[in-house]
Amino acid sequence: MALEMRATCEKCAKRLPTDAKDAFICSYECTFCSQCADAMKRVCPNCRGVLVPRPTRIPRPIRVVPFNGR
Ligand SMILES: [Zn+2]
Ligand SMILES: [Zn+2]
Repeated sequence: MALEMRATCEKCAKRLPTDAKDAFICSYECTFCSQCADAMKRVCPNCRGVLVPRPTRIPRPIRVVPFNGR
C-alpha cells in the first residue's frame, strides 16, 4: 500500500500540499501543520505517536530527456 499524503491538517484543516515545509506526520500518517504540532507538543492526539516533520515530495518527477550524443 502506497503512503498516502494527506493534503490538509487534521486539526485546523490548513492546506498542506506535498511540498509544504511546515507539515508534520506521525507514524500512522496523521497529518498536522507545524502550528498544531507545536501546540500539541508534537504528540499525535489520535495515536499518541511522535509527530515528525514530513518529508517533502516533488509533485511530478523531473522528466529526463535521453541524450543520444548527436
Ligand atoms: Zn493545523
Ligand atoms: Zn497519529
